[in-house]
Amino acid sequence: MKTALVLGGGGFIGSHMVTQLKNEGYFVRALDVKLPEFSTTSADEFEVYDLTNPEKYEDFFTINNSCFDEIYQYAADMGGAGYIFSGENDSSVMTNSSLVNLNTLKTIVTLNNKYETNKSRVFYASSACIYPEHNQLDPENPNCSEDSAYPAMPDSEYGWEKLFSERLYLSYARNFSINVRIARFHNIFGPEGTYDGGKEKVPAAICRKVALSNGEIEVWGDGKQTRSFLFIDECINATRKLMLSNETGPFNIGSEEMVSINELVDIVADVAGKNITIKHIDGPLGVRGRNSDNKLIKEKLNWDYKMSLKDGIKITYDWIEKQLLNIE
Ligand code: NAD
Repeated sequence: MKTALVLGGGGFIGSHMVTQLKNEGYFVRALDVKLPEFSTTSADEFEVYDLTNPEKYEDFFTINNSCFDEIYQYAADMGGAGYIFSGENDSSVMTNSSLVNLNTLKTIVTLNNKYETNKSRVFYASSACIYPEHNQLDPENPNCSEDSAYPAMPDSEYGWEKLFSERLYLSYARNFSINVRIARFHNIFGPEGTYDGGKEKVPAAICRKVALSNGEIEVWGDGKQTRSFLFIDECINATRKLMLSNETGPFNIGSEEMVSINELVDIVADVAGKNITIKHIDGPLGVRGRNSDNKLIKEKLNWDYKMSLKDGIKITYDWIEKQLLNIE
């Protein structure tokens, strides 16, 4: 039986990956500071543990006196614009994630030496937030091709930490022959994603606001900033495809269906069957325009997104509305 370790397995993407791996017949151990918020975990073993602490790493990373076949590293301090761009969480975002990535790689090297193996493949979840701000000023024509990452100038400490950690994983691949896989996710959304409390991202926030509204919702900025959004199932499929390939990346994993935030509100309102007007207010924004560029992943992995934004929003809106109404 294949074995997988999922760090951040209590989070949105991590818990979906745990379920996918179980469906594929893997033995799965998940680690996180918290259990999944909206469902029970499908993992065979779930350890509640703060991964900034290196103490128990060797135990958790050992299975049947050897190393795991696959390791997925999703643990990070993250959230939507309200969390990432306020500046208030910068030191925590950088410290927390860097420590988890350093601990992870050092432990893999230690255990590879101990068990005289190098069988683990390690997936690292990077982000579209690594791309330079100056390539994302025109909302109609952002450039997020993988090779545009340098010279670097991400617009948040979150992006800088992701870029540092990409380089960290690549340096361990170079110096210790670790089998690394890196993806840059572009706004993943879907059921069981946080939808309130300050860490929610824009699709979930707008679904919540529309579900609770009688006509008007607030949107940060002029709403003309553009983004693309990828449904969670497609993110999981692309990640599995990358993990099982011989490619390292980094690859964009995202949708190329770019919309403005005002257009996103229209899509959500349409799905909800409501007439919604927008009140534009000040708030943290991020870059002016961003879209995934899937040319490289299409060419190397033959992967592309398939689901329309509207179809993904329908599923997500229904789930958030049910949570809010507290109905089954
Ligand atoms: P999430 O916040 O739902 O999941 C992250 C999980 O990591 C959380 O459950 C959290 O408790 C856990 N975690 C954080 N610090 C920890 C620690 N010290 N010890 C143990 N667990 C810890 O976020 P997500 O949306 O599932 O994102 C997963 C990964 O993908 C993150 O690395 C994120 O940066 C990256 N990413 C996500 C998106 C997106 O749109 N969701 C976009 C780009 C990149």
